[in-house]
Amino acid sequence: MRSSAETTHRTSLGRGVGLLMVALLAMAVIVALLAWRARTTLDDLRRADRINTMLSAMVLLTEDLLNAETGQRGYLLTQRASYLQPYRDALRGLDRRVEEVLASDDDPAHAARLARIHELVQLKMTEMNQTIRLHDSGRHEEALELVLGDQGLHHMDELRDLLGELTSSLRAERAAISERLAREAGHTELLLLAGLAMLALFTVMATSQVLLRSRDLLRTEKRLRGIADNVPALISHFDGKGQLRFANAEVGRVLHTDPASLLGKTLEEMRGVEGVQQLRPYIERVLNGESVAFDAEQVIEGETLHFHQSFVPEFSGGRVEGFYACSMDITERKRAEAAVAASERRMKAITDNLPVFITYIDAERKLRYTNETMRSWFGLDPQASLGLHIDEVFGVESTRQRSAQLALALGGERVEFEVTSTMLGKQRHLRSIYVPDVGPDGRVAGIFTLSIDITVMKQAEAQLARLASSDALTGLPNRREFDQALAGALARQRRQARDGRLLAVLFLDIDHFKAINDTHGHGVGDTVLRDFATVLRRVVRGSDHVARIAGDEFVAVLEGLNRPEEAEQVAAKIVDAVRAAQPAGVPITASIGIASVADGEVPAASLIELADRALYQAKHQGRDGWAAVRWPGQDQRR
Ligand code: GH3
Ligand code: MG
Repeated sequence: MRSSAETTHRTSLGRGVGLLMVALLAMAVIVALLAWRARTTLDDLRRADRINTMLSAMVLLTEDLLNAETGQRGYLLTQRASYLQPYRDALRGLDRRVEEVLASDDDPAHAARLARIHELVQLKMTEMNQTIRLHDSGRHEEALELVLGDQGLHHMDELRDLLGELTSSLRAERAAISERLAREAGHTELLLLAGLAMLALFTVMATSQVLLRSRDLLRTEKRLRGIADNVPALISHFDGKGQLRFANAEVGRVLHTDPASLLGKTLEEMRGVEGVQQLRPYIERVLNGESVAFDAEQVIEGETLHFHQSFVPEFSGGRVEGFYACSMDITERKRAEAAVAASERRMKAITDNLPVFITYIDAERKLRYTNETMRSWFGLDPQASLGLHIDEVFGVESTRQRSAQLALALGGERVEFEVTSTMLGKQRHLRSIYVPDVGPDGRVAGIFTLSIDITVMKQAEAQLARLASSDALTGLPNRREFDQALAGALARQRRQARDGRLLAVLFLDIDHFKAINDTHGHGVGDTVLRDFATVLRRVVRGSDHVARIAGDEFVAVLEGLNRPEEAEQVAAKIVDAVRAAQPAGVPITASIGIASVADGEVPAASLIELADRALYQAKHQGRDGWAAVRWPGQDQRR
């Protein structure tokens, strides 16, 4: 704003100075012309003066000539010597005067005539001297002839004519000079008038440029005020004494007054001593030539407003003459910032107290945010971890474990997965969700991660699974679990069939268990069932599957048998062990049906049914023993 005003100012000023220069130059030309004119006029005047002198001389010469003629004629008429004397004097005067004129006039136009006049006068002088001599010697006749001679008369006529011509020529020349002087006097007047007119014109033009400059300045000032009044900021200017010299409309709006009424007032007068207190250090700095910017609060009519202030020094000739103050009302921004901060505090309180681990990881895999869970899960200060690479924070092993999911999420995909990690010696089962933070340009700026500790849930889930697949009384797998185990065993058998290995299902049932219940009570019956399960587990191999499938019915699957007898040996061992066990002091026995098979293709139900049939056989054969069936057919018994 300021520079454009200065440019306008300079342009107008330059135009004014230029016009004045032109005016001065024109005046110099006019003065030179006038000087030249004055010189020629002087020359003309001098010439006219000489012509006047010459004309006076001509008058005297004509008079001398007349005298000479009178003398000559007198002598001719009277022949008396008294006429010769004036004749001679007149000729002498004529001669002297002609010589004087010749010496003073150097005009070549007159030179020829003057020379002839001089020559004729000389001739006349010679003639006259001769005449005098002849007369004096008494030779009057000869003297008279000489005077009367054609020569003598002719010379006199020629002299008269020449003097007349010269006089006319001088008069004509004088008239020309007079005319020229009169004319030039008119020209000089015109020139002077023109000069004056030019001077007046250029003076007017230069003045109008200065006026234009002033008008431009006024316009510039008006424009600047217009701009300043429409800027949503308080703009003011203070002079070196701290008095307000300019204030825009916004100042008036904020202070609820006409800005013009504030002009000349100091900051103290406007804002009170206390209000200026906080500004004083900045005022000192700006008056020392430093530009300063700061935020300040001000209470106006009970409302606290926030301003961003800038003070800029105004220099003039290297000295600080005052300063410009620009104040932006940032109250709305401050309030919005406070609202955002409050919202952030609330968010932090929520996220910090959630039993989840929340982070933000940028595209360079640096941690940018983490909630307080960082402290309880990893023993790390959330703030101290920020800006660090995730390898550094969580360890290379941990990030490698999640590398696939990290890559997918940083590639813009939402990922949800479960993972087990050991943190501070505690194993946690986590469910993690990685959400990409996609910017408006479509690029992934980072990822939000949310991990929930589902260890307890997982434990409960495992417990439930266990409960669902096991028998509550004995802790052995239940029928459902057994069905799965048998299906698995059969699948393996199908693969191992070529090795000649066998698979056997043992169906076990306690003999007369009903009677035990009836005799000793249900509680004892339960103890018997539990002890039977223990015996069963102990006798079979750890890798063999055992299960309680109903009341006093149990099953076992034996895999990788080389011969069918191996199953029978196991059954015999069980029967013996059960007999020996006597749980709760109650002697018990059990019967076992064995179904062995080499072919893994046999349906599980058929195999169980076959074993059940063998059990029925064992019971039928007197209990406390086993019966074996081979698929297909071929029974055995002990
Ligand atoms: P057998 O020699 O023919 O097998 O005769 P048994 O008396 O054992 O007859 P059976 O196998 O049919 O009888 C099973 C009994 O087991 C019937 C039922 O009252 C009893 N029982 C079933 N479940 C339980 C249980 O959980 N606890 C107890 N104490 N008894 C049970
Ligand atoms: Mg029974």
